[in-house]
Amino acid sequence: MSKADGSWINWFVGLHSNGFLCRVPYEFARDKFNLTGLETMVTNFQDTLDAILNSEFDMQNGFDADDSHPEMAEQLYGLIHARYILTRRGISDMCLKYQRGDFGVCPRTYCNEQLVLPLGLTDRIGESHVKVYCSRCQDIYQPSARCALLDGAMFGSSFPHMFFMQLPHLLPEPPIEKYTPRIYGFKLHDLALLPPSPDESDLGDSTSKEQLKHLEQAQPVQDDNRPSKRRCNFAFD
Ligand SMILES: [Zn+2]
Repeated sequence: MSKADGSWINWFVGLHSNGFLCRVPYEFARDKFNLTGLETMVTNFQDTLDAILNSEFDMQNGFDADDSHPEMAEQLYGLIHARYILTRRGISDMCLKYQRGDFGVCPRTYCNEQLVLPLGLTDRIGESHVKVYCSRCQDIYQPSARCALLDGAMFGSSFPHMFFMQLPHLLPEPPIEKYTPRIYGFKLHDLALLPPSPDESDLGDSTSKEQLKHLEQAQPVQDDNRPSKRRCNFAFD
């Protein structure tokens, strides 16, 4: 691979572990207005910026010894990336990745493999790793191991919400189904799901009988997939 094979940005976003990142256009990263305030957040700002805008990055050997520290380049790119993906063009770039499934799907069964988006818990570098947000159940999860070590601030805490404000037609319907705890097909009373109090913890077999009483009056869960005869076979004295 020759020294003129590409830019640092192309090399960096092409790494397997950086698959959540999109490529920030040079014109965006060069625009001083877009970088306002970042000078104080990254040490050796100008040299680091020059390094990531280097169009002849040595992909095989990486940075020269006298270049900025690679970690600084990653941090600065991450902060620029977080700003870029809030722009109309950035959202469009991330939408392509979203619809391609680059960020994965929600692990919750009843979300039916809803596509997810990356987000950070804070906007400050170094505080937490990236999470993924499911717009169906409106919760966050650990991402796939491949990109799990990316800094959450590379995406920021606002990204998914800005994304759906710009593209509301992509918002899914809330989940209809919700998991119901059952024993032998019978729904459990809420009290049965509470941890036992200290007074009840050593009651032995009698505890089991008490817990069985919490099954909701032996009322079977309405489940059209189960034959009604089988539901009625189970009764408590
Ligand atoms: Zn979900």
